[in-house]
Amino acid sequence: MTLRSWLAGADDSAFSVHNLPYGIFTTADRPGERRIGVAIGDHVLDAGAAARAVGVSCAVLEAPTLGPLMAAGRPTWRSVRHALTSWLTQSGYAKAVAARLVPRSEATLHMPFDVADYVDFYASEHHATNLGRLFRPGQEPLTPNWKHLPIGYHGRAGTIVVSGTPIVRPAGQRRPTDAAEPVFGASHRLDIEAEVGFVVGTPSALGTPVGLKGFTEHVFGVCLVNDWSARDLQAWEYVPLGPFLGKSFATSVSPWIVPLEALEYARTAPPPRDVEPLPYLDDRGEEPWGLDITLEIRLNGQPVSMPPFAAMYWTAAQQLAHLTANGASLRTGDFFASGTVSGPGPGSRGSLIELTWNGQHPVKMADGSERTFLQDGDEVLITATAPGPCGSRIGLGEVIGRISPAQD
Ligand code: CA
Repeated sequence: MTLRSWLAGADDSAFSVHNLPYGIFTTADRPGERRIGVAIGDHVLDAGAAARAVGVSCAVLEAPTLGPLMAAGRPTWRSVRHALTSWLTQSGYAKAVAARLVPRSEATLHMPFDVADYVDFYASEHHATNLGRLFRPGQEPLTPNWKHLPIGYHGRAGTIVVSGTPIVRPAGQRRPTDAAEPVFGASHRLDIEAEVGFVVGTPSALGTPVGLKGFTEHVFGVCLVNDWSARDLQAWEYVPLGPFLGKSFATSVSPWIVPLEALEYARTAPPPRDVEPLPYLDDRGEEPWGLDITLEIRLNGQPVSMPPFAAMYWTAAQQLAHLTANGASLRTGDFFASGTVSGPGPGSRGSLIELTWNGQHPVKMADGSERTFLQDGDEVLITATAPGPCGSRIGLGEVIGRISPAQD
């Protein structure tokens, strides 16, 4: 029998008791007091207050950040999740716990964790093929290393911002088409990248790779990512060391960290690999870590794409194994994103450069206007759901951002 909450409406919500994502919130009456919240239905449970109300001492839930809980490791994650599930399903707890619920409309959500290091991957074969064709026309779209290792780069942790933070159009160097010399100014080709991000909880020791089997021990949860990208800056600067200022001005994340356990029903086999991976990346014989998460991108409210995360060539477990294969250690709050999620068809691409084929085929908007890249005032919303138990859906929440004009 599936678990049911005593909270009206929660069972039919994407934030049912099968989800229970963690975030950080404040309320207007206590604006300086950051608290750990758990999304349930259309409410936020004040998790530390709920623990006190049921007579449990739980320091990791009473902290003002998710850091202590994230660092505590999987046995603690499991027992805390079990406790939260009990409090929200067993009627004996209902009176005490209901008093610690805050309507979500009254909660201000903050950056859910302190980002340590940030790595962004490039794991969609469809995206990498499309970008290869657009950035390097006439050449093999996939580079020779692509099917041997999950390609990534180190991004800028300090400019990861929570959903809703305005995105100021970046300025930088770009070389206009057919020009011999670059110019400096506001980006003309501001784009999105719809991705899924993985939050590391348990640290690892320097010099010790975590391997494929270390994924569930180290990864705390999952959120949505919009890796804003200035294509004109990127195209000029990326050779030969990869993305830099075309990416580092801002990366938006959703405010709810969905625990890995909540995605158990979303696990699926990744697409067949046509190149045999080296042993440290070979996940044949392992329970696969493909995830059947369906994203949706809306531009100014209008749906423009539904990228399927299940189509990703490299899994997050392989990405973690790769990023620690040289002995690089993990810290609590390390964050790695999947790379743009793009499926095989035009309606499943995760960036505007692919959706419009570098501006050649503009997206037609309901108001009659067209978009190639983002205009000032445009708003991008990314949402996602995944299968839960008994036909239910687990929601990953949303990541939203609106473009502000460039600053002089
Ligand atoms: Ca990216």
